[in-house]
Amino acid sequence: MIEIRGLSKKYGKKKVVADVSVTIQKGQITSFIGPNGAGKSTLLSMVSRLLDSDSGEVIIDQHDSKKIKSNDMAKRVAILKQSNFLNVRLTIKELVSFGRFPYSKGRLTEEDEKMVQQSIEYMNLNELQDRYLEELSGGQKQRAFIAMVIAQDTDYILLDEPLNNLDMKHSVQIMKILRKLVDELGKTVLIVLHDINFASVYSDRIVAMKDGAVVKEGPTQSIIQTHSLKEIYDMDIPVQQMDNCRICVYFNS
Ligand code: ADP
Ligand code: MG
Repeated sequence: MIEIRGLSKKYGKKKVVADVSVTIQKGQITSFIGPNGAGKSTLLSMVSRLLDSDSGEVIIDQHDSKKIKSNDMAKRVAILKQSNFLNVRLTIKELVSFGRFPYSKGRLTEEDEKMVQQSIEYMNLNELQDRYLEELSGGQKQRAFIAMVIAQDTDYILLDEPLNNLDMKHSVQIMKILRKLVDELGKTVLIVLHDINFASVYSDRIVAMKDGAVVKEGPTQSIIQTHSLKEIYDMDIPVQQMDNCRICVYFNS
């Protein structure tokens, strides 16, 4: 369980995350949604400790995250940031191997190698694994970064808009993989999603942010409702029930 308590962050005079408190249960996919600039990335960065908060605390499995040693933190929480720039020439396999660093410290054991191969397979990158990142499309690169995060084998996986750059097929593939990681391996996924329909179809809970605050939070069905979406996005969005899915038809709202 991750308990976010009264977390705040200011840039200059602007509070971009303002006293956010939310509890993330284990074994679920929690989607963070909300307009650009709502503070979603800032919040996730603070939870993963990439960024210091001004106030508040993050409790991870009953431990104050500030007191967890860096290497232990890297075995508990993995994060994929919204944009990833690398200035080194690396193959996919080498990149994914970095995910094992908290365990191997650079010297991969047989088990590390196994985890690397498994993650590459998970992301359907077998045939590309010896290619250099610079030779890949945006979507292929994105999948390689996700494989690296999976190889880190943490209980908590934080992903900031991981579907950016991906076509429909690969977006669906990734959401299904995340579902599998949660349902079969008991992982906990926190994910920022731009497309509310992916949030609707694949997540257990939704946290909606706006202007640095949580405006709505709850089980997916309770958030994917016209009146809730109005509060979040300030748009009148019809919601259609299709089989078990609730689809937001926002294209002409
Ligand atoms: P979201 O991910 O929801 O789009 P962000 O967390 O990236 O929102 O940003 C929230 C607000 O904080 C935005 O107004 C953004 O411009 C501002 N911000 C983010 N990072 C910085 C930074 N390093 N310096 C100054 N302002 C920042
Ligand atoms: Mg963001």
